[in-house]
Amino acid sequence: MPRSDIEKLHNVRNIGIMAHIDAGKTTVTERILYYSGRLHRMGEVHEGAATMDFMEQEKERGITIGSAATTVFWGDSKINIIDTPGHVDFTVEVERSLRVLDGSVAVFSAVDGVQPQSETVWRQATQYNVPRIAFINKMDRVGADFFMCIASMREKLGANAIALQHPIGAENDFRGMVDLVTMKAIIFKDETLGADYVIEEIPTNIKAKCDELRAALLDELATIDEDNEDFMMKVLEAPDSLTADEIHAIIRKGVCNNKINPVICGTAFKNKGVQPLLDNIVRWMPSPLDRGTITGINMKTEEEMSLEPNDDAPLSVLAFKIMTDPYVGRLTFVRVYSGTLKKGSSLLNSTQEKKERVSRLLEMHANQRTDKDEFFTGDIAAVIGLKYTKTGDTLCEDSSPLILEKMEFPEPVISMAIEPKTKAEREKLSMALSALSDEDPTFRVSTDEETGQTIIQGMGELHLEILKDRMLREFKVDASVGRPQVSYKETITLPSKAETKYVKQSGGRGQYAHVCLNIEPNEQGKGNEVISKIVGGVIPKEYIPAVIKGVQEGLNTGVLAGYNLVDTKVEIVFGSYHDVDSNEMAFKICGSMAVKQAAKAASPIILEPIMKVTITTPEDFLGDVMGDVNRRRGKIMNQENQRGIVVFNAEVPLSEMFGYSTQLRSLSSGRASYTMEPSHFEKVPAKIQEEIMKK
Ligand code: GDP
Repeated sequence: MPRSDIEKLHNVRNIGIMAHIDAGKTTVTERILYYSGRLHRMGEVHEGAATMDFMEQEKERGITIGSAATTVFWGDSKINIIDTPGHVDFTVEVERSLRVLDGSVAVFSAVDGVQPQSETVWRQATQYNVPRIAFINKMDRVGADFFMCIASMREKLGANAIALQHPIGAENDFRGMVDLVTMKAIIFKDETLGADYVIEEIPTNIKAKCDELRAALLDELATIDEDNEDFMMKVLEAPDSLTADEIHAIIRKGVCNNKINPVICGTAFKNKGVQPLLDNIVRWMPSPLDRGTITGINMKTEEEMSLEPNDDAPLSVLAFKIMTDPYVGRLTFVRVYSGTLKKGSSLLNSTQEKKERVSRLLEMHANQRTDKDEFFTGDIAAVIGLKYTKTGDTLCEDSSPLILEKMEFPEPVISMAIEPKTKAEREKLSMALSALSDEDPTFRVSTDEETGQTIIQGMGELHLEILKDRMLREFKVDASVGRPQVSYKETITLPSKAETKYVKQSGGRGQYAHVCLNIEPNEQGKGNEVISKIVGGVIPKEYIPAVIKGVQEGLNTGVLAGYNLVDTKVEIVFGSYHDVDSNEMAFKICGSMAVKQAAKAASPIILEPIMKVTITTPEDFLGDVMGDVNRRRGKIMNQENQRGIVVFNAEVPLSEMFGYSTQLRSLSSGRASYTMEPSHFEKVPAKIQEEIMKK
């Protein structure tokens, strides 16, 4: 069946809503769901019944962690809302959802303007080239200041923030907004849920200001499309002759090309401004067509190919989120980049090189799911039946195998030992851990070879704590965890080589393997590359995978203190075998021994995770707070003073950040706050390396 009219590709919007915690992202999303007619009973956030928050503990914490996708309809358009989390520990979730969005609405609190966390998310969106508009929420709050927010977006985010509305009334008296395109007032008569608005003339007291803002807006728009002389002429000579459609078309162009960030306002909580927000999402935000072709790699030719956003093109699908659902089991959220995804079809997971079957396709709404037979280019779908697919994998047709650009995930920085409260739960725990690590590539599970303990690794204490909570709720496993530890890494600083023989001849069948390899430092962040340069069958072909596996396992447990060895390049160059005594196991052990021997001679060092910490403190406490950061081996990067509040960035080793929130509170009588996110890995000072090795 071809796509129905309402879903014509240019009517599809895939958007995210991003915000600092508490700016009102959940409330805005809820109201969008309500006004678009999908949700009939409103759950207010403070009652803990928000619909987007699928996961139990999110309700308790009042923050949204998982990124769920929800489909709503507005006029002729279909809007897929991909929920992006607000907390720093979950930046990977943000990145993963940014990847599949075509545009985003940034929600700011009218009282606070740009807050540190929104800076992080904004920067990530810039990196992924995501077009953005801004919704200044909480216009009803005391101290709300629309134009302060625009100024802070320009200043702190470097955004080309442009007012497309002018608020009418302020704080308790906020009644609506002037639309600077139509030059009409949108007035909300009351603040009950579902209240409609009326269109009126602009109140006389702000008419002059609105005229001025509109002139500035048109001037800016005239610079967006230099080829459009007609528009430029009209702006110069007869601005009143411009129609709303003409102006919207240019705004849309400016948004899609990331040249402007239109700013509008409202109060989600008091139900003012949500319908105009939806109208403008449809008017200004890109459709999958605006995003244009995307590139993939043709797996037959290994060459780059461009994929048209077209239902008849070869199928390319990217999995961006795995969720375990209590009713239907494993749900894979995907975006269809090209082609048509059909229920019942078998697909190739080209990342894992595994066959998959689509047993059901669901469209997710806030409080219901609809079974569908097919999804088209540009759609977001939830798939049931995929067994192997992980976040970031490509799915395609067997007949035209291709792979989309892979997502890169940061290395975890913190680890904890975990064990079930009772022995009987051991198996359940390992099932839970494996399901959770499938969902979240920054959550890893391993076994400590010496102690036999199970170790979990993640992006921060809160990240691991939430996963532990989910194990209890979703998998009914009660686990206890050890103290959080820093996930150090090891690497080498010089090239080196090794020749290793693994030979056993006492009793029974003998063992024989012989491996020569070279190791050298790889670019930072590149991970390990292990390749075979064996020629002439000196090591038979069938044993080479075993050598590579052995080398990889050897690298996993390092040579200084047992941490992962990263960023090395290993070349297996020579060896020999024995007709009777050689086998896979012998070559695997030999590979592992050889790489360890080589790494030991390659001047290994220990690396530690460095966090980017952003601290906000009243000036009065600045001396104490900075002194403390220095004592924690922190490097202060830059600072900014705004009306007596100082915000500064520092790079601090994670190992020095335990217990920081308590310390910061006591240094500042509770007035300073901070956020932190992993930045990079750095060599630890010699003295500390010794201490780590002793442990
Ligand atoms: P999130 O953390 O960004 O998802 O923010 P929430 O939607 O959970 O909102 C945080 C708090 O602000 C909640 O108590 C909301 O009821 C409240 N809130 C949200 N929007 C508004 C608004 O427009 N005006 C006022 N006064 N409060 C709001």
